[in-house]
Parts: sequence; C-alpha cells; structure tokens
Amino acid sequence: MQILVRCPTCDAALPVRGDEAPAAIACGGCGREIALTLGDAVGADRAVDRCPVCGGRDFYARKDFNPKVGLTVVVIGALVSGGFYWFGRDLIAYSILAGAALLDLVVYGRLKDLTVCYRCHTEFRGVYARAAQAFDLHTADVLEQEYERRIGRR
Ligand SMILES: [Zn+2]
Ligand SMILES: [Zn+2]
Repeated sequence: MQILVRCPTCDAALPVRGDEAPAAIACGGCGREIALTLGDAVGADRAVDRCPVCGGRDFYARKDFNPKVGLTVVVIGALVSGGFYWFGRDLIAYSILAGAALLDLVVYGRLKDLTVCYRCHTEFRGVYARAAQAFDLHTADVLEQEYERRIGRR
C-alpha cells in the first residue's frame, strides 16, 4: 500500500510504503518527526482500518483524480478544435471537442478510489478492500477541528 502522509506543520506530502512500516518519518520540508503506527491490515494492504498517523478510524473514499491531466486533455481538444473552426470546418471542430470531453470522462471513470483520513488527510492507495463511504462535509468539519486542536494548530 502507498501511504501519502501530510505533515501537520507544513502540509508537505510525504510518501511512505506500507510494507516497509517505518516507526517514524522526518518531514523533508520542515524536519518535523512524524510517528507512524501501522496496523497489520494497513501493512499487508488488506484494509484501511486505522490511520497510522493520527490513529483515527474515520475515512472517506474519493476518485484518485489528477485535475491537471483532465484539464490538459480538454485544453488541447479545445485548441485543435478551435483550429478547425477557424478554417470553417465546424463539424470536425465540434467532434473533436466532444471527443476530448468523452476521453476525459472515460479516464475519470477508470480511476480507482483512494481512501483519505478525515482528520489528518493521509491518503491510502493500494489493492485493499474499499470500505470507506463518500466524503461528508459535516463529518470532516467535526473531525478536522478535533484533530487540529489535538496537534495544537488552533
Ligand atoms: Zn513539514
Ligand atoms: Zn489520520
């Protein structure tokens, strides 16, 4: 399992491998030590049951989507289509635009879910069984505040 830890101090993204299971990592941005407590299920890529960073058991699932990739496809599609439009080939222009949007949709649909910790925003990628629900704003509000108070951010 790939684990992406968010540094509580500077928000840097720190990748960790679940099977290596280090007891602590040091942030490359600010040098802060972050203790990790990896459970068996996380270490073996079976399930995300307990967050190794904050100990929380509340997670949500979201699509592993890189917005930059999707945007690039649409922008390139729009540029090419604009070129054809300029030369009076409207139909080709519209087909390319529709094609780019469709490609975007296909790419988005094939992405796997990743699991995110509500409290500390640690991300989990792997073949483990997905159990987390979709994002809930109210839950996020409550749990984020609780965590930030605990680590002294508020
Ligand atoms: Zn940091
Ligand atoms: Zn967490």
